[in-house]
Amino acid sequence: MNFDYKCVECRACEENCSIFITTGNNSPMEKLKIIDDLQNKIKITDDQIHTIFNCNKCEACQNSCPQQIPLIKLYDWARHEIQSSYGLRNEKQSRLIQNIVLTGNPFGSEESRLKGISLELLNKTKDQEIKRVESKTLLHLGCMLGYRLNSMRDDLLQIFDFLNINYTLLKNENCCGYFVWNTGDHATARKIIGKNSQDFNQFDKIICACAGCYTFFKEHYPNKEKFFHCIEIIDENLTRLKQEGKLHAKPLNNTVDKAILFHDSCHLTRPHKIIDAPRRVMKSIGIKYKNFARHGENSLCCGADGGLRMINPDLAIKIGLERVKEAKKVNSDGIITLCPFCIFNFRDATSEEDAIEVQSLYHHIRNYVELIEKS
Ligand code: SF4
Ligand code: SF4
Repeated sequence: MNFDYKCVECRACEENCSIFITTGNNSPMEKLKIIDDLQNKIKITDDQIHTIFNCNKCEACQNSCPQQIPLIKLYDWARHEIQSSYGLRNEKQSRLIQNIVLTGNPFGSEESRLKGISLELLNKTKDQEIKRVESKTLLHLGCMLGYRLNSMRDDLLQIFDFLNINYTLLKNENCCGYFVWNTGDHATARKIIGKNSQDFNQFDKIICACAGCYTFFKEHYPNKEKFFHCIEIIDENLTRLKQEGKLHAKPLNNTVDKAILFHDSCHLTRPHKIIDAPRRVMKSIGIKYKNFARHGENSLCCGADGGLRMINPDLAIKIGLERVKEAKKVNSDGIITLCPFCIFNFRDATSEEDAIEVQSLYHHIRNYVELIEKS
């Protein structure tokens, strides 16, 4: 493979690179030099392999490169080359792939990801399944909401119920393939994409709850225009209700005086420019939020992405701590975000003394929806 690009060594790509900021190493330029070696079939060392995988694939480097070098595509290619020529990185990666192939989720759970949904919501879901042929809209939960952050899943279902959005949930929903792709095993990831695409054929619209799945669908699945992120749909519906004068509950009193920081997810901001929608929603429901110093397209990654937690969990948490430190500096008592990976990593990076609550925006919207329903 021969990629045609010219790095002018301006180092603009280092400015928002979570890895470089935290370690002073493993910069995008270092990665490019290793990619040159891989292209020239020069044997690379273990340290160089680590440099390629020490990456959140957050796109901050690509976003600031004046030469418009497709860095993420190059990193993906490099991971694939390494997996093909040097094998998988560790036992955790092979277990993850095996779990996804055998059970459809990285945790190896035999349960459906709908398990544990409250009876009330499940009944409503069953109704939606009856309407399945008419609705042709799939709500895709993702592995994290299905198996690790059930409260985020249930908050979302309650919001959709309030907004009267018709949808289908697949009992056998499968992993999107992003975890596998990040290991470099693109052959297995492509098989997963093929299988899921067949399941998706029956739907006109697919609404994704997880920022990671959403971006992977948009970049690697056919019919990209079918995919939407939940916050786009919630924003659209809340704006409509506001215009119709139906958002009559008082704003969320419990959050009005608190300094809550909103963390942009890399998956939503840089590739898809979903920056204003969550802010509009927070404004509509009365959350007084503050932005991190680095926000929007210049946001710093939470540290979890790109499979880093599997390869280098200590580094992933160290990066998460950068955000937590900033929140403490402005005396914030909360971080809000939309991505389940960010929530997980920030929770691991905070301690009880920090007294910083990390919550999904869905949680706050659900609180607001409950206020309306009670009023
Ligand atoms: S994708 Fe993010 S973490 Fe990886 S090199 Fe680029 S800026 Fe750094
Ligand atoms: S921003 Fe682009 S051109 Fe500048 S050093 Fe980084 S990769 Fe090279």
